[in-house]
Amino acid sequence: MDSSSTHRSMTRRKTRTAGRWLSATAAFIALTAVACGSASAANSTPDEAFAVRDDRPEIVLDISLYLLVDDEAAPSASISSHRDVDDLRRVLDGMNEIWSQAGIKLKARFIGPAVMPDRTLQGIARGDTSAFFTADGGHAALREPSLINGFYARQIGAVNGFAPPGARSFFVTDNPSVHDRRVSSHEVGHILGLHHALEDPDRLMFSGTNGMTLTEDEITVVRHAAAGILNGVR
Ligand SMILES: [Zn+2]
Repeated sequence: MDSSSTHRSMTRRKTRTAGRWLSATAAFIALTAVACGSASAANSTPDEAFAVRDDRPEIVLDISLYLLVDDEAAPSASISSHRDVDDLRRVLDGMNEIWSQAGIKLKARFIGPAVMPDRTLQGIARGDTSAFFTADGGHAALREPSLINGFYARQIGAVNGFAPPGARSFFVTDNPSVHDRRVSSHEVGHILGLHHALEDPDRLMFSGTNGMTLTEDEITVVRHAAAGILNGVR
């Protein structure tokens, strides 16, 4: 296959993938989200550099991070995220430190505001994304949706973050009780097929702590899931 037909093929795949993402999100509006740690449960883990094995080829997944606001020019402070684009860039840098353990790179496709109807933001503030996943509730109008999409909201109920099953989307509160990069990375872990770890608070998938480590078994699972997403089979 020559390079131009490869490019066309990749373009078609990207278009199909975006369509699948939108239909998949709509299909899961009624499902209960995975709640991840109460906002009051904090723990501390010292910052650390993760050992990166160089025998694993890097897997690159595109990601978009959105600030959920009611108005782009003059967002209402009571209902819109207080974060800014620089905050989200720092979060993504931190996520990539954590995910380097698995040889996974999250590449920013879009980082910026997403204007949502009031009822959508009010729903998300209660941890309810049913309005968000309706045709006119917000998600359909997103700029540059990616394979993985993160949404940063003023409030999301009594948790730090959650990932609605099957949607390849995650939501994070403005004021989590643990490190920002950890909350977002934990939710990406769910999107890549990981369940909660129950015994070791130093692990990324333990709920409500600053744990950031992945086991070799978890790395195998997430790399398989990530490859499946890229190949359009997950
Ligand atoms: Zn969780």
